[in-house]
Amino acid sequence: MKDINIINKISVIEKDYSLFLIDLWGVIHNGIKIFPEILEVLRNLQKKKKEIIFITNAPRRALVIENQLTEFGIDRKLYSRVISSGEITWRYLFEKFRDKNVNILHIGPPRDNHLIEGLSYKKVSIPEEAEIIVNTGPWGDNDKLENYKNILDQSLKNKLPMICSNPDKEVIRGDKFMICAGKLAEYYEEKGGAVKYFGKPYPEIYSHIFKSINFINKKKILVIGDSLENDIKGANLQKCDSLLVSNGIHREFNNGVGKISKNIYNLIALKKIYPNFISYNLSW
Ligand SMILES: [Mg+2]
Repeated sequence: MKDINIINKISVIEKDYSLFLIDLWGVIHNGIKIFPEILEVLRNLQKKKKEIIFITNAPRRALVIENQLTEFGIDRKLYSRVISSGEITWRYLFEKFRDKNVNILHIGPPRDNHLIEGLSYKKVSIPEEAEIIVNTGPWGDNDKLENYKNILDQSLKNKLPMICSNPDKEVIRGDKFMICAGKLAEYYEEKGGAVKYFGKPYPEIYSHIFKSINFINKKKILVIGDSLENDIKGANLQKCDSLLVSNGIHREFNNGVGKISKNIYNLIALKKIYPNFISYNLSW
């Protein structure tokens, strides 16, 4: 396995990087509040003239997420921008279907409806009437995959292509695990369904960021995230350095509070996805 350094604060490595691509859920906040040392990290990075872009697999447009960050107490001046899997999905749908009168089966809560706005689409509620599925996640926060097998099996029979706006399979809100769009898409794909994913680790979200930056030296980018399969795999594919925060989605592999255990290395070896650094949380 390649060298992985455990660090306890980001100030020991920040000098080697100029652009920080930072995940939100599990790194900055838990869906309910921001983690204690985040503002200090952001303020110090800004003082050192680092560029901060939040990159998130949230099935929501970027502006919606910026507003949520403001509510969490993160001043808009503390970062350059947010780019989300939802934003990339919206742009794709808009390019492809804006004049097509397509029949969309939307699987996802009403708060994600804005992802299919701006299209001349017809929203349908049964697979037999649909031409595509836009999957933004479960309808209810406590839903299980089992609740969706019927509608997904029906959709398979109708050979509906699925657009998945969040490759994450689960997320932790507060202390509770919830399934995400990626969990439904995984089932659909395993059964032979066609799925197009937007978000980390897939390339569109990174190329969207790189296009917006004048000069990019990938050696100067540090990707920070709590998911090996999404954040760190995305960094590996883009050949950027990365920092895994262990107290997020993989927290069960920690050795209690504040302690990174060998178990996380087993997971890394199993998945063959390699961060350069591991830190328990994001602190200065
Ligand atoms: Mg995360």
